[in-house]
Parts: sequence; C-alpha cells; structure tokens
Amino acid sequence: MVITGGVHGDEPAGAYAADQIRHWPITRGKLIVVPRANVVALKANKRNTPGEPAETANLNRNFPKAKEGGQPRGALATALWEFTRQQKPAWFVDLHEGSDFNAMTNKSVGSSVIVFPTTDGKAVAPAVQAAVNATITNQNHRFTLRGPPVDGSLARAAGAHLGAHAMIMETTIKSQALSIRARQHRVMVHTLLKHLDMIDATVTPEWMTARVSPNTPTPHVAVYDAGGTGGTSAVRVAEQVGKQPGAIVVRVCGDDIRGGALDQFNVVAVPGGSGSKEAATIGEDGRARIRKFVEDGGGYVGICAGAYLATSGFSWGLKILDAKTPSPKWERGHATVKLELTNKGRQVFGDIQGVFDCKYANGPILCPANVESLPDYEVLAFFRSEVAEHNTPPGIMINSPAIVAGRYGQGRIICASPHPEQTKGLEKFIARAIAWVTGRASIAEKANAR
Ligand SMILES: [Zn+2]
Repeated sequence: MVITGGVHGDEPAGAYAADQIRHWPITRGKLIVVPRANVVALKANKRNTPGEPAETANLNRNFPKAKEGGQPRGALATALWEFTRQQKPAWFVDLHEGSDFNAMTNKSVGSSVIVFPTTDGKAVAPAVQAAVNATITNQNHRFTLRGPPVDGSLARAAGAHLGAHAMIMETTIKSQALSIRARQHRVMVHTLLKHLDMIDATVTPEWMTARVSPNTPTPHVAVYDAGGTGGTSAVRVAEQVGKQPGAIVVRVCGDDIRGGALDQFNVVAVPGGSGSKEAATIGEDGRARIRKFVEDGGGYVGICAGAYLATSGFSWGLKILDAKTPSPKWERGHATVKLELTNKGRQVFGDIQGVFDCKYANGPILCPANVESLPDYEVLAFFRSEVAEHNTPPGIMINSPAIVAGRYGQGRIICASPHPEQTKGLEKFIARAIAWVTGRASIAEKANAR
C-alpha cells in the first residue's frame, strides 16, 4: 500500500496524519508512506504549487489522464508517479481535505471517501466510511461515499493505470480542529489496514508517534487543541515547544485522550479558550485519564483556560492543583498586564528582573483551595497590575499569582493565567515550563513498552 499526504499544501491534516501513520508497525505486506508529497506547497500553505505555471499548478491534476497518452505533467508529478509506479501498489490512498462538508454541499468534497471503482475498493469503502462516521455525532458532518477520483489525480491514475484499489480520503477544514481531522484520517486508514490484515491489535488509531529511547527525557508533548480551545494558543504552544531539540509535539483531541493516547507522552499541555468547554469535550473519562497521567509522573502545563481546568474549585476541574478562583466573575477583560517573577520563577524561566509585560485574556485569579490531599502551589510570577472590567471585583488581581507550579502524585504542573505564548519576548516561557514538568522517565518507559 502506498499512502500519500500533503499533495495539496493547504490541507495539513492529511500530511499530519500520514506522518503519524508511518510509525505503525506492519505485520503483513508493505506500507510506504509519503507524508509530505508537496513540500513547497505545504510550506506556503497553498493548494497550488508555488513557482509552477498555471496549467500545472494543481499537482493533483498532473497525473496521467485516461486520454492524454498516460504521461504525467511537471517535475513533481513525474517524480511522484515514477515512485508510485515502481512500488506496484495493490492499494493506494491519498489523504486530502476539503473546505466544507460534502453531506451539506456539493461545492466541496470535504468529509468524503472517493473510491476508484474496483471490486475490492468498493467492497471495503463502506466499512471505512462507517468507522469514521461512528466518531461523528453531527449528521451534517458525516462522511459521504463518492467516486471516481477526478481525472488527473494520483488516486485516479493509480487505479486506471496501475490496477490499484485506490481511494482519496477527505476531511473538512471548516470548524474542525486539526487534531480531529488527523484522527479521522487515522481511523479510516486504520480500518483499511485492519481489513487487509496488515496491522495487529496493538495498533490503534491513537498511535501517533515513534517509539523513542526514554534515556534522555526529552519532551513528548500532547497539546490539546479541540473543543473549548480558542484563538492561536494551541498553535503557538505547539510551535514553540516543537522548536526544542528532540521534542515531539502532537495535537490531540478528546477522543485521543479517552482512547489512551497519553501513554505516548510525558507532558500534556492545555491552552487557552474556555475551561468548562474544554472539560466538557475532554469528558469525565478523559479528565480521569489526565489525572492518572499526572499522578503517574506526567507533566501538565495549563494556560489560561488550561489553568482553570487544573484547579479544584469547579465541578468540572481536574483538581490536580490546590487552587481555586476567589470570585465566580471571570470576565475581567483582555489587556497587557505587568508580571514579576519570583526567585523560583527565575529558576524556571530565566533571570528576568523587575516587571515585564504579558498578554492577559480573562485568565484565572488564583488563591489556595486548601484541599488536604494536595500540596500547596508555589508562585513563579505575580501580577503587578490588574484589569477589572464587566463588574469583576477590583483589587484581587494585583499581586496575586499569575504563574504557579504544583505537584500531583509523581507529576509536576505549571499553570499560567496570562498568555506568555502569545507575548512577544516571552516565546521561550512555555518551552521552559514544559522542560520543568518533563523529566520522569517512567512515563517515557511506558510509552516505549507499547
Ligand atoms: Zn486536496
């Protein structure tokens, strides 16, 4: 089987999922994955290939058509076609994304499985569709079955000229987090590989990373980026942590966490948005899994909503941090505020003296919750100014904790009420927080034993 991703550069989930699927051990046959088929287009985040003339700009129209003598057009299509042909694939799968849900509009093929009409391909496609649809509650977002792939596409050419059972899997970019779209791709490919007996029961759709040596505890970070997250927080965190040497950073959704995905990581990061909505989407089982993960030595980094989520004063909170909010009025406003590090904070974030600016957006005001079973948090930074809009109580923010560190079981926690990940000059804060909460080899060993 040959799987390609990233043929269109503005459809990132296909490339993301392919890069995860390539780690799956194959027990029968052979799996060849080309995760980033169109590197320049992916870098530019463009559908069309930068630098190509208009007639060959859309890579997925350059593969041998039925009528034009069967020749690919352009250097990239020629190379990809030559490579694919040499593999003599029995199966070919191309991972794409559409702009809108095909179940709702004919203007896009988003959320569909587009099958080249071979007997075997048509036989398995409904199972692929059913598996992914079982993960989707909204009827309008369910996958449709279509076919054949458009003339000039790699899937069409693989079916027509190589005799492969070929299909395009399309997720939908609109209103869905990258983590969810990547999971949908994994669920579909997993179903197909399972059907062909190419993987055994140890491979689940939650398998996202390489097995790596746990000897040096480099960060393997799951960044929650699905329901309840907002703005650019998850993207910034993933970028900033991903720049660390050896770091593995993967964006995960609620189904991933509930399915046991955290086994592969030693840190979970929960970015900004709405704490109660994040809690609802992660679900009770997912929250229990995060608690157990930290208890067993995993790290937790929460920013704004992710900090609310860690606290002990809400029914939906993780209750891993001995902190609560002193007032139920949370909508203090958006502002640039002043912070100052403590001595402990300088050990974690570096030697920054005096006050400095940080973006703030309705983050929690923290005070001790005095939960008997939890150790007290340590303050890493204090607010040195405040914002108190929308009838929120004044005076409780200034000189209150802005960033705190805690412990839960074997695990370490850092929670930031403001947004250093979105503040110019503070881009290293989250990576340093991750480094501080990472370090327990036990979790990495567990991941390695998978
Ligand atoms: Zn596409």
